[in-house]
Amino acid sequence: MTEFPDIQLPDDLLPADGRFGSGPSKVRLEALARLAATGTELLGTSHRRPAVIGLVERLRRGLSDLFSAPPGYEVMVGLGGATAFWDAATFSLIARKSQHVVIGEFSSKFAAAVSGSPHLEEPDVIRVDYGHSAQPVADDDVDAYALIHNETSTGVMNQIVRPASSGLVLVDATSAAGGLPVDPSQFDVYYFSPQKAFGSEGGLWAALCSPAAIERIETVTNGERWIPPFLDLGIALTNSRKNQTYNTPALATLALFVDQVEWMNERGGLDWAVDRCATSASTVYRWAETSDFASPFVSDPAARSATVATVDLDETIPAGVVSGVLRANGIVDTESYRKLGRNQLRVALFPAIDPDDVTRLTQCIDHVVERL
Ligand SMILES: *Cc1c(COP(=O)(O)O)cnc(C)c1O
Repeated sequence: MTEFPDIQLPDDLLPADGRFGSGPSKVRLEALARLAATGTELLGTSHRRPAVIGLVERLRRGLSDLFSAPPGYEVMVGLGGATAFWDAATFSLIARKSQHVVIGEFSSKFAAAVSGSPHLEEPDVIRVDYGHSAQPVADDDVDAYALIHNETSTGVMNQIVRPASSGLVLVDATSAAGGLPVDPSQFDVYYFSPQKAFGSEGGLWAALCSPAAIERIETVTNGERWIPPFLDLGIALTNSRKNQTYNTPALATLALFVDQVEWMNERGGLDWAVDRCATSASTVYRWAETSDFASPFVSDPAARSATVATVDLDETIPAGVVSGVLRANGIVDTESYRKLGRNQLRVALFPAIDPDDVTRLTQCIDHVVERL
């Protein structure tokens, strides 16, 4: 274990909740309490019974409301998180050839999952240096565009704009959905795991699908291509329409997910959540820009994420030590994405995180750095 300097943060400076991880991220204590209060009614009961079917129904309705889903769009739910969804999309959504916009580790993983699959052509990959955003290039030879709304490894957000082409637009929105604005007419599939902006646990994926995406799934999964059933989105669609999942879901994940979606919808929906994240983001970036030891990693202000902020520290201040001291004071998971390899702090700004706590976090960082 690395030894960190013994710096005690004063109680009146500490955030009310010290969880700033980018995933798993802060789960609201009220949601946990409500889950515990279900007692014998939910956990440990059959997922084919009304208690659970009702949860999936509330989840699908709540997400449709949150994203103002246009007519014909449907919410699908399945198991395995966004990572499993990449494999499901490889089997059930891409017809022949995809184009991937790779701006960080997560977007590169989907491209890698597609590359080499025996039933598809090698994908086109558009790559930019990490820390920058990028857009797809319309290409009539491509039937699916793999975009990322927010690159969690770098803190870069992309605008989601449909290229002028008939290809499906598949958006990894895992750390964006519920925290960044989006226009559903610009995508065909908007998929995500619930342990980021939805303040739940990992293990599930949800996907808002356009009629074109549903049609593609029905065509691709019609039996001509061998598809492992777990990755067959035709099966996921059939189950989702019955408010079920193909196999046993994590009920606690589901319950916390529903709690968060309804919490957002009761407070003003996506606009409210987006505003809350934007408030936190302006606090962090303004602090970093005026600090004499910190600066935003992402140079283009328009690409600085409002859900995951990355802040570089001066070389003389080891970010790992700052994160370590914060951790010893109960402020956790501010470490940067390991593979990015920068002297950096990464701070989640998801809706569950109180903007006042973000202000306190910046004050705590100042306090630590002054004493190093
Ligand atoms: C966290 C994350 C993933 C992976 O999610 P899992 O639930 O672990 O599969 C994929 N994409 C993005 C953008 C993420 O932030």
